[in-house]
Formats: sequence, C-alpha cells, structure tokens
Amino acid sequence: MKILIIEDEQKVASFIKEGLEENGYEVKVAGTGISGEKMAGSHTFDLIVLDIILPDISGFEVCRRLKRDLPDTPVLILSARAGTTDKLTGFDAGADDYLVKPFEFAELLARIKVLLRKSGKAESTPQILTVADLELDLDRKIARRGNIEIELTAREFNLLEYFMRNPGKVLSRNDIAEHVWDASFDFGTNVVDVYVNFLRKKIDRGFDRKLIHTKTGFGYVLEDK
Ligand code: CA
Repeated sequence: MKILIIEDEQKVASFIKEGLEENGYEVKVAGTGISGEKMAGSHTFDLIVLDIILPDISGFEVCRRLKRDLPDTPVLILSARAGTTDKLTGFDAGADDYLVKPFEFAELLARIKVLLRKSGKAESTPQILTVADLELDLDRKIARRGNIEIELTAREFNLLEYFMRNPGKVLSRNDIAEHVWDASFDFGTNVVDVYVNFLRKKIDRGFDRKLIHTKTGFGYVLEDK
C-alpha cells in the first residue's frame, strides 16, 4: 500500500509518515501542491492525504485536479479549519473524507483503512507467513523457500500453516491431528507422522538448514536452528 502525503508542515508530515510506516504502508511526502501533483502523476498511490493550506496552490484546487486525473484514488483532506463551508468545499472538490487538525493518529489510520477497503485496494495486501527463508502465501496458497516454489497438497498446506503460526513451539501429534484434521478422536496419530514426513521432504530436502525437527516423545517443532 502506497500513500502520498501532500503537506507543507514538516512536523505533521513526518508524524503521519512515521505512523503509517510502522503500520506497513509505504509513504512519500510532497511539501507543495505542485510537487504533490507531479508525484501523483508519475507514481501509483493507493491513497492521498492532502492538506488544504499549502504554500503554492490551495489544497481544494489540488484535490479537484487529482480527482479529475485519478478518479479512483481516494483523497483524504486534512484541514486546520473545522467550518462546515470548508468541509463542503472539500467534498465538492471530490474529497473522499475530511479530517480536522489536530487529530489523533489512530483516527487517521482508521479512516485510511476504511477508504482503502471501499476502493477495493485493501484486499490486495498479501497475507504471508515467514519463518527463516520459508514463506507461506495464504492468499495464493503457495509455499516458497528462498526463491523456489514448493507444491503442496491442501492437507500439507494446512499442516505447514499450523506449524508456521506456531514457530518454535513443540506440537504434539494430538495437537496437529486436532488442528489439521479436525479430529477430536484418536484417529491413529501415525497419519500425522506420515504427513509430517511428506512435508519435510518438500520443504527441507536439499536445504542445509532444516526447519522441521522431531522432539522424541513430544512431537514436532518448526524452527530455524
Ligand atoms: Ca499546511
């Protein structure tokens, strides 16, 4: 998720930038309306945070132009002025939301998330679990070690997902049976051993660092050691 902040007050800009970066967004800052428009035109952003009082042109004017050129990119206006007229002018200029300064970062973040969800962009955030050089892409159902893609069956995928959600934790055969097979009865835990071995062959064979380890008498653990 890439966000552009058009804001001339450096303090405010870096406050927003840092907060958004901590939340996993990629952020660029423009200090004037003109440079903001240029950046918006030359890069793709998922959302734009726009201040109204800029040193060169009015934020309302910037908003109008952005919405003309990039109608699908949500624009959230920041303003020090709480007046209704300003708010209306903002929405009239095409703004998708309007926040009055001073605001709490949590409020801004919540509104950004809503706008991204509405514009259908939030879903593209990939859900990926990582342990050492092993990656599990939950959306695309792909496992990868280093740059090598690993083919897994649905059962193996679920088993690996359970391991990767509990790295470093010893999982008993019963734990695994319950979570991966939904088996609350004793269904013969050597099925678990068989599947763990399938998985091991796929993710550890040929790699120096082994990730799935046997804890004799307890079960299995996924860890990088
Ligand atoms: Ca300003």
